[in-house]
Amino acid sequence: MIKFLDLQHINSQYRDELLAATTRVIDSGWYILGQEVSAFEKAFASYCEVGHCLGVANGLDALILIFRAYKELGLLKEGDEVLVPANTYIASILSITENRLKPILVEPDLATYNINPELIEQAITPKTRAILAVHLYGQCADMPALKKIAQAHNLLLIEDAAQAHGATNFGIKAGNLADAAGFSFYPGKNLGALGDGGAVTTNNPALAGVINALRNYGSEEKYVNRYRGLNSRLDELQAAILNVKLKHLDMETQRRREVAQLYLNGITNPLVTLPTISPGNEPVWHLFVIRTPDRTALQNYLTEKGIQTVIHYPIPPHQQGAYKDWQAMRLPITEKIHQEVLSLPMSPVLNNEDVNTVISIINTYEL
Ligand SMILES: *Cc1c(COP(=O)(O)O)cnc(C)c1O
Repeated sequence: MIKFLDLQHINSQYRDELLAATTRVIDSGWYILGQEVSAFEKAFASYCEVGHCLGVANGLDALILIFRAYKELGLLKEGDEVLVPANTYIASILSITENRLKPILVEPDLATYNINPELIEQAITPKTRAILAVHLYGQCADMPALKKIAQAHNLLLIEDAAQAHGATNFGIKAGNLADAAGFSFYPGKNLGALGDGGAVTTNNPALAGVINALRNYGSEEKYVNRYRGLNSRLDELQAAILNVKLKHLDMETQRRREVAQLYLNGITNPLVTLPTISPGNEPVWHLFVIRTPDRTALQNYLTEKGIQTVIHYPIPPHQQGAYKDWQAMRLPITEKIHQEVLSLPMSPVLNNEDVNTVISIINTYEL
């Protein structure tokens, strides 16, 4: 079987380095907010070419903490509207509602799957205060257009970079493209821990300071609580693992790009719509997502031939039980995407033989 993502294979390549890192933490006797987290924050800030990085418990918390910090700073308040792509992973939207802000779902561009800047303008109201841009599947949103809109309307611009470690937009790294960014180090992400992890990046020292406190009970000094914070820290152990894996990230991204290029050159079946790279972008191919009218037929065909695929995502947020108020909402582009997308095997450990097998089997598929 050709696996969709072979995490065991990816991580076992670094087994010795990971064991050494883990041993270092065990022997240090220091397990929360120590040297490993500090070293990772420094290394990841430098990787993203951004001023500040704060390690947090997971990607959802990274986004929650950004909005929460802006509330503490007085730039957001309950009920403010946040524009967000309607086809994102639900965590983007949870981070908004968790803060009692109001998500306004905006349709994506059918070619890039990222939020459509032209539709954003129409969705702006006197209550709009922020845009949450999601770099879906590893390709950055149209940041120059979004920045222009954000500046013209005095909106905060935040990146959900959970799928975009190392991606660039006109030469600028994800994580340094807006006011703040949230990253996830969930094991299956391009930079994956061996458990949960996340980070916020920003060039704003005041925002970094508030998040630094908020992730640690709202405290800057032990037993002195300036804010009503939470406990959302990146573990020392996960940070030690991420310090190892960050060193290999560019090499892994390079392999993902080679796999994507083979798919883009090799898949010629007219029933399949390939992903589009939009101007200025160098995607990191967290996922390689195709579209086809009869997705179930194609997925079953590939399964029969031993090729594992996944759907990102099968149900759009506005049709989830979590958001019952939105059930009457019609978002035709988002709904079409959710009906037609299929993610092909994509990982840094896929070999050419397997990629070529996937290509030739897709090319023989017919309705
Ligand atoms: C994975 C992901 C998140 C959430 O990250 P977790 O670490 O799983 O909490 C948020 N947004 C997007 C787009 C994601 O893919």
